[in-house]
Amino acid sequence: MATPDRYGLIGHPVAHSKSPAIHGAFAAQTGQNLTYEHILAPLDGFVATMQIFIEQGGKGLNVTLPFKLEAHALADTLTARARMAGAVNTLKMADGQILGDNTDGVGLVTDIESNAGVTLSGKRVLLLGAGGAARGAILPILNARPTSLTLVNRSPDKANALASEFSAFGPIDASAFTALQGVFDVVINATSASLGNELPPVPAHVFGTTTLAYDMMYGNEPTVFLQFAKQQGAKTRDGFGMLIEQAAESFFVWRGVRPDTQKAFPELRASAT
Ligand code: NDP
Repeated sequence: MATPDRYGLIGHPVAHSKSPAIHGAFAAQTGQNLTYEHILAPLDGFVATMQIFIEQGGKGLNVTLPFKLEAHALADTLTARARMAGAVNTLKMADGQILGDNTDGVGLVTDIESNAGVTLSGKRVLLLGAGGAARGAILPILNARPTSLTLVNRSPDKANALASEFSAFGPIDASAFTALQGVFDVVINATSASLGNELPPVPAHVFGTTTLAYDMMYGNEPTVFLQFAKQQGAKTRDGFGMLIEQAAESFFVWRGVRPDTQKAFPELRASAT
């Protein structure tokens, strides 16, 4: 058998990530001959660690915190979605060039539309947060043609700046938490508040009984955000599907083959919890 092509996830820390299990399952399912490993880079050693990986013949990397901006700066060419996201989570090495892509936002939209069955077209969407994850989600959400996309952030200036920056791509606006009005069809928590078991200051009235409340974070237990949304009668979903779908998109970028995420999902969810 030919030597497998080498892929991995570079980050700091990185050992907790489920990505090797996910890509291992995708490779087994599609018959692709590859390996996928954790690559811990020193905080000041992203470029050096990546260069060693390339010299050793590595074909592609996923990039996680805190290196997504460095990866964006270092790529020779960027896809449009990576350029607008301002961050790169997928690097592909081919013909001596490094392509930078961002599959996080597409992964989110695919999980909401294909897996949760909620079409974004014609919907009122509320996005909480204005960090890297929120930024990467904006263009893919606007491409799904919602009626409106409202950004709200603890530091309002950041939400205002993002809304201005993306205004040419669709109906986007920014609001303060206290100024939000009415019910939204989809409310996405792209803040990191859940990491500290905190609830962003989102008013209860944004959730209705047909609202999908989505937390990009995932874990064994529902986040405080999802618990709060459920108390208001909303449907809830965590970010595990986003993780799977961004990985599937990266796999497609690297291999030109799309894994069946529906098949892989139950097994991966069971092994992750
Ligand atoms: P950043 O650090 O870039 O941004 C954090 C954001 O959260 C900022 O908007 C910040 O507001 C806001 N925030 C932090 N704490 C609070 C709080 N207590 N109340 C209200 N707002 C708060 O993080 P990322 O954008 O990279 O990640 C955000 C989340 O998305 C994380 O939980 C991460 O795990 C998840 N994620 C999930 C993925 C998946 O595949 N499922 C992929 C990528 C990310 P301010 O600007 O005021 O500081």
